[in-house]
Amino acid sequence: MINLVTVLGLYDEFDAEAICPNCKRKVMVGFQTKALFNLLLYFEVGDKVENEKLVVKDGIIKDALGSCPKCKTLLLGEIIIKDNVFQGIQNIRVEQKIQKP
Ligand SMILES: [Zn+2]
Repeated sequence: MINLVTVLGLYDEFDAEAICPNCKRKVMVGFQTKALFNLLLYFEVGDKVENEKLVVKDGIIKDALGSCPKCKTLLLGEIIIKDNVFQGIQNIRVEQKIQKP
């Protein structure tokens, strides 16, 4: 997996199975966001999204960043949280804007 730390700084990661919009293969993608804890926390589908300071009940985190492990294409998706549980990633699409630093 591409290390995106230089792009995002500290982030949290949500892993989910996805169909890559570029190569059309079914892959596991780790989508990273700075919207929550920024503690390098790692969530899989079905995990509770919380720590001692913050409980996420329901929400959508937009524009989480990941990359396809097969074709290395940068991807964006929405992290879906419902009833305090990570449900999955929706609206997965190819990231067009980010340039390499
Ligand atoms: Zn791909």
